[in-house]
Amino acid sequence: RAKAEFETRVCYYESEMDEHARQRRAMANDLWQALENNAFNLVYQVQKSVSTGEITGYEVLLRWDREGYGPVSPAEFIPVAEECGAINAIGAWVLRTACTEAASWPEPHKIAVNVSGMQLSQIELVDLVKIVLYQSGLAPDRLELEVTETAIINDKKRALNILTQIRALGVSIAIDDFGTGYSSLATLRSFPFDKIKLDRSFMSEVEHSEQSKAIVRAILALGRSLSVPVLAEGVETIEQLDVLRLEGCNEAQGFFLGRPAAMDWEPSAALQRA
Ligand code: C2E
Ligand code: MG
Ligand code: MG
Ligand code: MG
Repeated sequence: RAKAEFETRVCYYESEMDEHARQRRAMANDLWQALENNAFNLVYQVQKSVSTGEITGYEVLLRWDREGYGPVSPAEFIPVAEECGAINAIGAWVLRTACTEAASWPEPHKIAVNVSGMQLSQIELVDLVKIVLYQSGLAPDRLELEVTETAIINDKKRALNILTQIRALGVSIAIDDFGTGYSSLATLRSFPFDKIKLDRSFMSEVEHSEQSKAIVRAILALGRSLSVPVLAEGVETIEQLDVLRLEGCNEAQGFFLGRPAAMDWEPSAALQRA
């Protein structure tokens, strides 16, 4: 009886896995299709100075309205895009579109573009950044690339080489979701970063938990001693922002400061500045 039960379970898992694989294949297909059909678009989330409230930049976030499904989270489709190889084409589209859009903004704000680990393992990324900057006319110091620690551990030497070349163009590099990878300190020591983005998981508890506050304080001290500014992600309340101000955090981003949204400049404001 036990054997029969075991076998049914195995079959159950296998068919569930088949179903999972089938869904991923279907999504992969739709991703390639979406590239052709222009089904992607970009939203921007503001980043601000904690002490002055000034805008310091905007993070570029990819959105996909999947035909027949509605909006799908990038947390869900980026891993599929990485698996099926579409990430390079999608990443190139994001970079080109973001730089072109930002180049026409009435205010020369910085943009921060997320780069996947797979893009970071390809030397072509350097040429892509060069070409996109040239074609869009965006000043290199208005572009920042966000990379995660997990993105660079695959092939550290190659990633370091690529990041160094991109930085030499005048583009800055931020380390994203800091504190969630497993090699944080070693990474900081050997990589040329211009900003640390503190993962938003620390924010959710910082008002109540002394432990979380202690960790945030330690990372801010680390940033100060390395002369690297720290941006806190996921700031949802004024209390969290107050803690960050008190602890001397440089920048913040989150729903409390602004939700990701399409960037449409008010024509009147643009005219006034023109
Ligand atoms: P991320 O780079 O850490 O981006 C921040 C995510 O946190 C965004 O989710 C944003 O909408 C969300 N967020 C911002 N403020 C708050 C807040 O106050 N509270 C909470 N709970 N969430 C907040 P989103 O847009 O769903 O993106 C998820 C992840 O997908 C991103 O995490 C990034 O890793 C990836 N991603 C997004 N766009 C791209 C892209 O163009 N290329 C690549 N490679 N990855 C992307
Ligand atoms: Mg990011
Ligand atoms: Mg992040
Ligand atoms: Mg995150």
